Amino acid sequence: MSNDGTIHARGIRKSFGYKTVLQNIDLDIACGEVCCIIGPSGSGKSTLLRCINGLETVDSGVLKVNGEDFGYYETDTAYHALSPKKVAAQRTRVGMVFQQFNLFPNMTAQENVMSGPVLVKGTHKKQAAERAQELLASVGLGAFGDRYPAQLSGGQQQRVAIARSLAMDPEIMLFDEPTSALDPEKVGEVLAVMQDLAKKGMTMVVVTHEMGFAREVSDTLLFMDEGVIVERGAPREVLANPKERRTQAFLKQVL
Ligand code: ADP
Ligand code: MG
Repeated sequence: MSNDGTIHARGIRKSFGYKTVLQNIDLDIACGEVCCIIGPSGSGKSTLLRCINGLETVDSGVLKVNGEDFGYYETDTAYHALSPKKVAAQRTRVGMVFQQFNLFPNMTAQENVMSGPVLVKGTHKKQAAERAQELLASVGLGAFGDRYPAQLSGGQQQRVAIARSLAMDPEIMLFDEPTSALDPEKVGEVLAVMQDLAKKGMTMVVVTHEMGFAREVSDTLLFMDEGVIVERGAPREVLANPKERRTQAFLKQVL
């Protein structure tokens, strides 16, 4: 059976210097599953996403993404880094969208969406442009391909960023507080694109403060605090009946 679109972690640990940022993280995400992560600032949410897409390597533990050891592999005696080429290939299969949209300011929306396929995969420009146009249409921006980022609203820029990630045909999409930098009236249009993606069966891990989205769209909700997953479960259950004291305290503040 194919493990494409899955994430499997056992006992992940990650430190920066003496500070342990992730400890004992176990995670199983099935293909097509949507997992939302909530938790206070500094709890390790971004670091966990960055490990899952290879921007950081874990210190120890098992991490398999799309069924493959990610970033490194383990033998009886040691961890060995995978070759940079292998890591780069693995990373193309995991898309990531950040709070700050990180578009290339000197490229149009269409050029932004084309850039990955053309530069990384060597896709022919004409073909990449056609695909970019389709992807822009799918996020409601079919008429905006020739605009530069500065000519787009925050919500539009974030939708271009999502289209740009999708252009690499990832099996997994990671979102790190994708609506936190947006004006409130622009949040809905980005969440709608994400909900659409979820419906199409994309495996997604979403760090968010949007509890409505977590409740309606996610299959699993995780609450993290101080580098550990404190509580997890069906989103309605966790939000309505949090079992752990720390989850209760956090939800009291945000709901
Ligand atoms: P969150 O996304 O939940 O706010 P982060 O994963 O960004 O949390 O950070 C978790 C902790 O790790 C914080 O204490 C942060 O200061 C620390 N941290 C994150 N990245 C680095 C880094 N590159 N170097 C040192 N410390 C870091
Ligand atoms: Mg963060």
